[in-house]
Amino acid sequence: MPVNIKTKLGVNAYKIDPESHIAINHDVCKTKCTVKFCTFVCPARVYTLGDDGLIHVEHDGCLECGTCVIACRSDALTWKYPKAGQGVQYRFG
Ligand code: SF4
Repeated sequence: MPVNIKTKLGVNAYKIDPESHIAINHDVCKTKCTVKFCTFVCPARVYTLGDDGLIHVEHDGCLECGTCVIACRSDALTWKYPKAGQGVQYRFG
């Protein structure tokens, strides 16, 4: 029986680093980006546009795929891997 992506993502485990590995330069984001690609491309929906007009980041669900770094054309995003031993742990099975 086929398994959908939501179910597959549900088997991952996360060791959450309280310090975010993702940072947004809000000045650049607000002035240079009108599309907010990160809110569309992230498979984990880490980015949301708040009522305050700022991008909000929930780094603890990050899948470490790197898509957002490529999609952010205004270079408003700083992304690094979480500290060693932290972040997503993929489970296959
Ligand atoms: Fe989302 Fe992938 Fe960027 Fe993590 S690395 S925030 S999962 S797009």
